[in-house]
Amino acid sequence: MAEPIGIVTARDALSAATRRLGEAGIPSARLDAEVLLMHVLGIKREHLYAHPERRLDFSEYERYQAVLERRLTRLPVAYITGKKEFMSLEFIVDEHVLIPRPETEILVEEVTSRLKISPHKARPAIVADIGTGSGAIAVSIAWFLKTVKVIATDISADALTIARQNSEKHQVDHRVEFLQGDLVSPLAGRGLEHKLAAIVSNPPYLSRRAMAVVPPEVAKEPKSALFGGEQGLDFSFTILEDSRRYLTPGGFVALEAGYGQAKILAEFAKDVLGYDEVGIVLDLAGIERVVIAS
Ligand code: SAM
Ligand code: GLN
Repeated sequence: MAEPIGIVTARDALSAATRRLGEAGIPSARLDAEVLLMHVLGIKREHLYAHPERRLDFSEYERYQAVLERRLTRLPVAYITGKKEFMSLEFIVDEHVLIPRPETEILVEEVTSRLKISPHKARPAIVADIGTGSGAIAVSIAWFLKTVKVIATDISADALTIARQNSEKHQVDHRVEFLQGDLVSPLAGRGLEHKLAAIVSNPPYLSRRAMAVVPPEVAKEPKSALFGGEQGLDFSFTILEDSRRYLTPGGFVALEAGYGQAKILAEFAKDVLGYDEVGIVLDLAGIERVVIAS
């Protein structure tokens, strides 16, 4: 078959798309236009930059316009491409799961480095990820710590379907178990009392006020993945409280926290719940982002 006659170069398609997204008020217009073009053409950035004169055929052009239309509705790029990178691993995402965030990498790094040095050598450590969503936390922990077993829970069956796909994609499915239910309650009745080296969670933590001002892209994510009650702390408090009976003596809970929440959670853990040691880890922007209680 003869090559179809291209109708527009990649460079021209890209600058027109950047302009269109920019005029619609999308802050990351250029980057988004590029990522979406790479997605439609099935090429990497190097290729796009090396061959800016490459012509889009009619079907590529049409598909590019179609994804731009979706982006103009403020649908996040990751929902359009169906993927997002987290901890240098590619995760499948759809509209049933939160798009994994860079700040959550701090939580995973903190947890994996603590588990590496913890005295659980005799038996493989068991870790729970509560509210696993895409499985970003559970799968990356299992990926980076090759002997650890992870139990991942979520209230959403649709989220668990995606999480399971991600565990298979990264070939850790034999070490990650998925349970549907409310927070830590799916752990009950499984003989896990005082058996877990760590309980990790990035729970929904936005307050009602924060929910009212989220960017339009975040508003496209599941509300059930974001809203943490009036002050945003409902899930975090419950996880801290209910985790105690599942932790080994040296075990710990690690929670991602929203802006201004870490100190409140740390005090609650220490003063009300009687955790021995409580620490706070800052993110790259200097915000208190992770609370660790052991
Ligand atoms: N762990 C993923 C991450 O960090 O990218 C997703 C975190 S998202 C902020 C919170 C997750 O908690 C969502 O997947 C949501 O479905 C789940 N969730 C909400 N309420 C829950 C509940 N009562 N019990 C268990 N999971 C819940
Ligand atoms: N960090 C998310 C945001 O952008 C909130 C995630 C959560 O509630 N855990 O708004």
